Amino acid sequence: MRLDKYLADMDFGSRKEVKQLIKNKRVTVNEKVIASDKFQVNEHKDQVTLDGEEIVYQKYFYYMLNKPAEVITATIDDFEATVLDLFSDQDFRSDLFPVGRLDKDTEGLLIITNDGALSHRLLSPKRHVEKEYLVRVQGIMTTVDIENIAKGLKIDKGEICLPAKLIIDQIDEQKNESIVRLVLHEGKFHQVKRMVYALGKEVIYLKRIRMGALALDEHLELGDYRQLTEEEVKLLE
Ligand code: URA
Repeated sequence: MRLDKYLADMDFGSRKEVKQLIKNKRVTVNEKVIASDKFQVNEHKDQVTLDGEEIVYQKYFYYMLNKPAEVITATIDDFEATVLDLFSDQDFRSDLFPVGRLDKDTEGLLIITNDGALSHRLLSPKRHVEKEYLVRVQGIMTTVDIENIAKGLKIDKGEICLPAKLIIDQIDEQKNESIVRLVLHEGKFHQVKRMVYALGKEVIYLKRIRMGALALDEHLELGDYRQLTEEEVKLLE
C-alpha cells in the first residue's frame, strides 16, 4: 500500500497531513528516509518509523470496555462525557466507535472498534446476536414471567419482543427485589427496562455481561478497557 495510506490508517493524521510528514523527511522505511508519499510499503514486512519511533501496523482495533454509568454511548458530545473519553491519548483513534448502545445508566460490556463490517454483523437484525444482561429488579420475578418472556413479550406501543430467556438467580422477598439474567436476540430501544416494566416491575440496576460468545472480562474494573485477543475477535465473527 502507499506510504501515505499506511500512515493515515495508523491515525497519524489526514491524508494531507501525513503527506506533509513524509515530505518533511520524518518517515523511514527499512531504515531509509522516504520523501515520496506514493512509496509502496508492505505492511506485514517493512519496518516503518516516524520520528525514529517504530510503527506496528494494525488496520482494525477491537476493545472491550466495562462501561460505567455516567458516560454516554457516543463518540463525541458537547456536554457529557462519552465512552471514548475513557480512552488514553495513546489508545485513542479518531475512527473508533462503540458497537451498539447502552443507556447512560447502564454498565458493562461495550465493544469499541474501527471495524464497520464487524459492527454491522453484530447489530444486524437478521443475525439475532445474543446479548445477556444482569438485572436487579424492584419486584419479584416469577415462572409466569419466564413463560411470557419465552413466548415473546408484548411491551408498550403494542411492540412484541422476540422470544427471550429469563433466568432467575436470586429472590429477596424482604427487599422485594430479584436478581435475574435476561438473554435477548435483538436490541430495541430501552428494551430490558421496557420488558421489565411490561411485567409490572422496575429495573434498579442493569449491566450487559455478554455479546454473542464474548463475555465481559470480570477483571476489568468499571471504566477500564482492553484490546480483544485474536481468539476473542474470532468469537464475534
Ligand atoms: N436495555 C435497556 O433498557 N437499556 C440498555 O442500556 C440496554 C438494554
